[in-house]
Amino acid sequence: MMVAENFDYVLKAIRKAERRAGRAEGSAKLIAVTKSQDSGALSAALSCGQRLFGENKVQEARSHWSGYKADYPDIELHLIGPLQTNKVAQAVALFDCIQTLDREKLAVALSDEIKKQEKSLPCFIQVNTGEEAQKSGILPAHLKDFLRYCVHDCGLSVTGLMGLPPVGEPAALHFALLKKLSLAHDLPHLSMGMSADFIEAVSLGATYVRVGSALFGSRT
Ligand SMILES: *Cc1c(COP(=O)(O)O)cnc(C)c1O
Repeated sequence: MMVAENFDYVLKAIRKAERRAGRAEGSAKLIAVTKSQDSGALSAALSCGQRLFGENKVQEARSHWSGYKADYPDIELHLIGPLQTNKVAQAVALFDCIQTLDREKLAVALSDEIKKQEKSLPCFIQVNTGEEAQKSGILPAHLKDFLRYCVHDCGLSVTGLMGLPPVGEPAALHFALLKKLSLAHDLPHLSMGMSADFIEAVSLGATYVRVGSALFGSRT
């Protein structure tokens, strides 16, 4: 019940932000982030009609979704957490989009595995707009070269950027930078905004917002 109300609230807020920004309805998609959620939360989200989900760990995503994927073939799963190269085969098999492409070694591993599994798998490059040492992602100044490497050298299908603004800084500055980078590199997708700031992210051009706690309550 509460999950249904939360979905209603979040989806209405997204639609309203799209309208205010003069954007087409549905141009910003809601990714329901189900990390650390129990099966009750997953089935409640499915009952609300939600089919697009984000997970930040390969193992947990498998245990959450491999069963449901058989019953709901339209489920779309995005990986939004760091990917280790030893998990690439599982990730390519399970996910419909990898949002956290962040280093050359991973680009090579993804490229090899995508060919092996004969899949088409869009990837987003994670950009470290706050230039934080502890955070993964490509620095804005290195994006051009890294993008060229991924697309031309590895043959990856890179269709967007993903970002996580630093805690304690106004997210809007980082959203605006991500938008600028996506325009400069002709990348149609932009994954930015979480529970606290998804409305702002839609105003600034997000095509995907990643929302967890505003839908399911705080994680345990
Ligand atoms: C957990 C997580 C989210 C969702 O965070 P909430 O604040 O619960 O909405 C979004 N993006 C990433 C990368 C996450 O790890």
